[in-house]
Amino acid sequence: MNVLGRITELPELPEPLAPLKEMAYNVWLWWSWTPAAQELYRRINPVLWEACRHNPVKLLLEARPERLADLAADPEYTASVEAVYQSFKAHLASRPKPTTGTVAYFSAEFGFHESLPIYAGGLGILAGDHVKAASNLGVNLVGVGLFYHRGYFHQHLSPEGVQTEYHETLHPEELPLLPVRDAEGEPVKVAVEIEGRKVWITAYQVQVATVPVYLMSTDLPENDPADREITAELYNAEPGMRLRQEIVLGVGGVRLLRALGVEPEVWHMNEGHSAFIGLERIRELVAQGLDFDTALESVAASALFTTHTPVPAGHDVFGFEQVAHYLQGWWERLGIPRERFLNLAREEREDGAVYSMSVLALRTSRFAGGVSRLHGEVSRKMFHDLWPGLEPEEVPIGHVTNGVHTWTWLAPVLRDLYERYFPEGWMHALSRPEHWATDALPAGELWAARRALREQLIRDVRERLGEQRLRAGEPPARLRAAERALDPGTLTVVFARRFATYKRADLLFHDPERLKAIVNGPYPIQIVFAGKAHPRDEPGKAMIQKIVRLVRELELEDRILVLEDYDIALARTLVFGADLWLNTPRRPMEASGTSGMKSALNGGVNFSVLDGWWAEAYDGQNGWAIGTERAYDSLAAQDAADAASLYDTLEHEILPLFYARDAEGIPTGWLGRVRRSIRTAGAAFSAERMVNEYLNTYYKPAEAHGRVLSADGHARARELAAWKKRMAERWRQVRLEARAPGDLRLNGKPLEVSASVDPAGVDPRHLRLELLLRRGATGPLQRVAFPEPETHDGRLHYRIRYRPDLPGSYVYGVRLSAQHPDFAQPFEVAFVRWA
Ligand SMILES: *Cc1c(COP(=O)(O)O)cnc(C)c1O
Repeated sequence: MNVLGRITELPELPEPLAPLKEMAYNVWLWWSWTPAAQELYRRINPVLWEACRHNPVKLLLEARPERLADLAADPEYTASVEAVYQSFKAHLASRPKPTTGTVAYFSAEFGFHESLPIYAGGLGILAGDHVKAASNLGVNLVGVGLFYHRGYFHQHLSPEGVQTEYHETLHPEELPLLPVRDAEGEPVKVAVEIEGRKVWITAYQVQVATVPVYLMSTDLPENDPADREITAELYNAEPGMRLRQEIVLGVGGVRLLRALGVEPEVWHMNEGHSAFIGLERIRELVAQGLDFDTALESVAASALFTTHTPVPAGHDVFGFEQVAHYLQGWWERLGIPRERFLNLAREEREDGAVYSMSVLALRTSRFAGGVSRLHGEVSRKMFHDLWPGLEPEEVPIGHVTNGVHTWTWLAPVLRDLYERYFPEGWMHALSRPEHWATDALPAGELWAARRALREQLIRDVRERLGEQRLRAGEPPARLRAAERALDPGTLTVVFARRFATYKRADLLFHDPERLKAIVNGPYPIQIVFAGKAHPRDEPGKAMIQKIVRLVRELELEDRILVLEDYDIALARTLVFGADLWLNTPRRPMEASGTSGMKSALNGGVNFSVLDGWWAEAYDGQNGWAIGTERAYDSLAAQDAADAASLYDTLEHEILPLFYARDAEGIPTGWLGRVRRSIRTAGAAFSAERMVNEYLNTYYKPAEAHGRVLSADGHARARELAAWKKRMAERWRQVRLEARAPGDLRLNGKPLEVSASVDPAGVDPRHLRLELLLRRGATGPLQRVAFPEPETHDGRLHYRIRYRPDLPGSYVYGVRLSAQHPDFAQPFEVAFVRWA
């Protein structure tokens, strides 16, 4: 057919079923973490429910009216509808009162549900879980992202493990996406300029229980055909596409919120993709008559940046000319020279300077953090150059460790079990560790649930494998083999994540014969692999093929499987059913990782390199560590050491514990790890804990700081900007001379240091002189302030006597720095001078 358009007739549901429509559209997603609600949709037509990828909107569009009429006449069904609807109403009514103004949360991907594939992996799932937890906690958040009408790619694997990619076209009308309307009731439209051309943007609203998320699209007839494609695909590799998408996300996102009358108090950039929001907010203030520097201070005061990876290639960078081309005219709008405009995002790299979105985000926000303790540390080192003269731990980048949304990632059988045995109130205060009373779970019931989940995993995996082989045209024997793959009594290991080489999916194959001996040994294991490689990542794709080939050569094809198209639905099956969750990144490349948290929540036990979240979660009894926390000179040495540790721990600790059974056939020792694993992940690695931490560490301070700097026509932002400008000039003239004894044995006497400072007109209250020490050169940094100076001859004279608390050998230094009471962080700007 020559298609002229699409029409969609929304279903008219019989009266008693009306809530099904309301819950599917208006409060999208609440059902996705509420098993009883899903059951209502599934019962309409279980086959269709699977075919629609668990998307109730599509299900209602396709369900047969007679079937709906039958159900409407079934008192048992309508009573269930009513009960679920009441609990939904209660859910909305029970939201706590918001404790902050509006937080705008920007993300290039959101992983809410398998039916809306606008996420690639961890970053998107995290954004989805953040929004869901914010809704549960009553945080006043709005999400802003892009609606990719061809989404992220789906993956097919050939029998040889060759990845091919394809996109499915998403139709907003088959999804719970409601067009966002302006005051006149028309679909909202805003424009951005790209290459000096106007690009129009519209938006759809996704309602995640109480949190609205606005997804923007440029697929409008008034745009150039090429511009309609800007929001077509997530992480499209076409040159310039990323930049155009990011202009739409950052600049367009701010304009959209303005058009909707949303006035955020806090602006959260989830990854640097949305860093152009800073430019647009500055432009708005400059248009109101502010100078650039004042506008920057005011804007940055209420902005937060979360950085997500220590892998340099994971940070978006562009060429300066490219940026100048797409953002032509912007420097005039901001009232600064072109050079300065481009240098806002300048990052010096070994192979030349680049325009870095992460640097732009750091320069335009006063609050920044990584996604685990170790990642915070790595990020401070990574961006140390932006704050020259500081010690790495002083770089103003903190962290909030990631968490996962409990209701999305907890298997319904376990939810019921926990509900029966955990203390009253567990469901309403997930981040309280004492609520996760896993010792109260009876061993028999816990083990029965774990077995049921493993069996479910095996059923799902067999079905998927069969479909995968059928589609690839494999012979009947291979299809029959898929029906028998895996064994319900065998310890099931899962390795599911993006196939990026640093994640070392092949580490398990480091010594193929040893792996084979384990798999076929008296205490066997079976392994499921799943994951996509980025379309441009040839080494990642080659790794999938390598694994498929090795499995075939080792004749382990019924025990080690590689499944295609890893997504939220497959992740659910795998994290519910895995006994052992394997993660082997090359330390410290994994920023956090969240799949291990999901597995632990369900009683899977983590077996992982001490990287990301696991470096802070592992306590010796809640799972196992691979390798040690040491750093290696050579990758080959690191791989060999980690592989040896992996095999040894498997053979000597994990397998014997799993297969040791008591008189009732229950692995009591193993369940000890399971209980501890659940307890570990349940509270500390929940998205509720994470969002609460964001609220207290970042959202509230950013809101307060933004208010202070913008009050009275941005008076204090103006003062701070002027102070920084003055200080930048004067700092060159400030002189510091220190008299220190050099190397010295203290023998019970104090260290005495004196210093004299020529403040060159700087207000002495803005100066801080410190003695900095480290015990044993690499110990933690100690900072000791010098007492108040005496002033004579226009100079400041300082003196300190210091005795260490602990014996030992220390390195020390003396450092002068400038500070301002309106700094959001002690070292917002590094005006520092070392003696
Ligand atoms: C949780 C999840 C991820 C992220 O997990 P990692 O541990 O970071 O790999 C990626 N993809 C899907 C589908 C997930 O559910």
